Amino acid sequence: MSTDGRVIVVGSVNVDLVARVDHLPAAGETVGDARFERHAGGKGANQATAAARLGARVAFVGAVGDDPLAVEAREALAIERIDLGELATRAGPTGVALILVDRHGENVIAVAPGANGELQPDDVAGAFERLGVEPVDLVLVGLEVPSAAARSALAAARAAGARTVLNPSPVTAVDRSVLAFVDILVPNRLELVQIVAADERRAGRTPDPDATPEGLASTLLGATGDGPGVREAVVVTLGAAGAIIVRSNGPSVVVAAPRVDVLDTVGAGDTFVGALAADLAARRSLEDAVRRAVVAAAQSTTRRGARGGMPTADELETVLRG
Ligand code: ADP
Repeated sequence: MSTDGRVIVVGSVNVDLVARVDHLPAAGETVGDARFERHAGGKGANQATAAARLGARVAFVGAVGDDPLAVEAREALAIERIDLGELATRAGPTGVALILVDRHGENVIAVAPGANGELQPDDVAGAFERLGVEPVDLVLVGLEVPSAAARSALAAARAAGARTVLNPSPVTAVDRSVLAFVDILVPNRLELVQIVAADERRAGRTPDPDATPEGLASTLLGATGDGPGVREAVVVTLGAAGAIIVRSNGPSVVVAAPRVDVLDTVGAGDTFVGALAADLAARRSLEDAVRRAVVAAAQSTTRRGARGGMPTADELETVLRG
């Protein structure tokens, strides 16, 4: 692995506070039967974990608070051997997701970004300088941090010659000036629809309700869309249907997901993105990386919890050998 680049993740760290309830309370209602669980979370930290489990060298750029939850969040990442030298501590609370889940698995979630919301463009620029980001590195950016910090990360990575991956989740402020710094965009189907709809509205057009994921994704590519856009490919995750690769220079490829006994799909998207980043940093082709990411993400759904199901390199190889 020594010639592999690093996966440098710029993203969020949360602690998920989960209450499992029989039914979700209505406004003003109290339900008293909840069972409480606490899990390490945040999309950035989850994706970093998925990449590290698969053997990638991972460095994390982000922020936690100075509260007891920060200790827990740090420990969970340190156990995965993620480099936390650029995980800053800010006065105030660590990011928290308050999650209620009912007996059918339906949920409501409120995210309090805390320290994630404090990450500044200068913090990212300084971190990249200290890390010495190189062309062999893969920079993975999410949007649970301020959009100015995300943009700064993508721009600095591009300037350093590193390949960039953007997971546009949650969809906020993704316009063409951001996409122009992105080599590979990895939205799920809904995020893709939201990004394209916002883009069409900005251009004064009405979104086409019948467009396919392939058609929508192609509008975001610099080569085939109108105006600046994603350089290499849009990889759309399609849940149980797997993923589709829509490329600037070549035909689209649909990658089917294996059939699995699904227990919990929480974290499937994060597993996909982290696995993809790990394999791209290991210089696998995009198609090969997506084929492996689809299998890793499917595997993650067979176990409980966002990080609980993320496979190790050995576990993934065992499944791939079939
Ligand atoms: P998100 O979790 O972000 O909404 P998706 O639902 O598209 O993203 O799932 C991400 C990936 O997880 C898929 O591309 C697929 O590889 C895997 N996956 C999700 N749901 C299933 C499922 N029911 N069966 C097999 N694989 C799944």
